[in-house]
Amino acid sequence: MNEFIPYGHQTIEEEDIQAVLEVLRSDWLTTGPKVELFENKFAEYVGAKYAVAVSSGTAALHAAMYALNILPGDEVIVPPITFAATANAVVFQRGKPVFSDVQKETLLIDPRLIERHLTSRTKAVVAVDYAGQPCDYDILGEIAARHGLAVVADASHALGSEFKGRKTGSITDLTTFSFHPVKHITTGEGGMVTTDNPEYAERLRVFRNHGITTDHRQRAQQGSWYYEMVDLGYNYRITDFQCALGLSQLRRLPAWLGRRQEIAARYDRAFSGIAALDPLVLLDRRTHAYHLYVICLNPDYLNADRNQVFSALREENLGVNIHYIPVHLHPFYRRECGTKPGLCPVAEEMYERIISLPLFHGMTDKQVDTVISSVNKVINRFFK
Ligand SMILES: *Cc1c(COP(=O)(O)O)cnc(C)c1O
Repeated sequence: MNEFIPYGHQTIEEEDIQAVLEVLRSDWLTTGPKVELFENKFAEYVGAKYAVAVSSGTAALHAAMYALNILPGDEVIVPPITFAATANAVVFQRGKPVFSDVQKETLLIDPRLIERHLTSRTKAVVAVDYAGQPCDYDILGEIAARHGLAVVADASHALGSEFKGRKTGSITDLTTFSFHPVKHITTGEGGMVTTDNPEYAERLRVFRNHGITTDHRQRAQQGSWYYEMVDLGYNYRITDFQCALGLSQLRRLPAWLGRRQEIAARYDRAFSGIAALDPLVLLDRRTHAYHLYVICLNPDYLNADRNQVFSALREENLGVNIHYIPVHLHPFYRRECGTKPGLCPVAEEMYERIISLPLFHGMTDKQVDTVISSVNKVINRFFK
């Protein structure tokens, strides 16, 4: 039997461990010099003016909603094929997520459908760079400009990807990232918001620290105890030792992205001749960051459904996964927003066909070969 191959896994090397140890021996455990350094290096990497580090990708989305001043009853357009946190962040601000369907070929939000969902309460669109492929930010930007909306990119999958030569993180009003261990780089838990807007950057900083205008390090430097809480904020701070880990990981990101793209290219070649598998389409003028490699089953050629293929792949010891259950089908959204099957037919159809294969930068060639041969074996078994 093959050894178990997870769908994603972090890489921690000796230099990461040393970087964290150095901070643990210093005076700053929470907000300290490494937070600012990580923010600066990250902003420089993606080509944004400001980066604000927070405690998770979910906190980053919540902070982005706050920065945009999403108020009770405001509507925000979101795609159904994403992690629930994308929509939850709207609800945290008592706003209403409005689900707008995805394109079949890419599972990215379909720009042609967005305008149907606009009302006088619509404030923003959150686009998700699903699997690591950037959405069409030219078209989304035009729609937003026409209707006075903000565009947020949930780029949790897409650190290092590019749209027409511009890095994700520098394209939209706000972009959010996650540093969960399965993502491109990790801080254990952690997230980042990037923007070119100084007012948004200030609001993000206040929001992550209880709505207080100065942090304890600034007060120590000023020799002052006085502070003001100007708005309702949260403790969404990230620690200094997490940012030391993030800095150390960021240095290896270019090499890791290259490895992810290499593995994806091998999967593409291996599966291109299999009629039962439709690959997701890579659109023009994109650099794909390949957080996920997703195969779509073509039911015309198979006498098994997705769940049977999924179980057979798990029996081969592949840590396959499903990204995602359409968010509007979760009981919470059915109950609170009245969503139901039929609302986003493309998402619902594709959900029944998708499987994410193992893909992470630390995968060996042998593991990649094992995935390819196991997929071939299972597909052959169920081929009509
Ligand atoms: C990982 C992820 C998040 C949430 O990030 P956390 O750091 O786990 O809070 C949000 N959106 C998408 C699309 C993600 O993949």
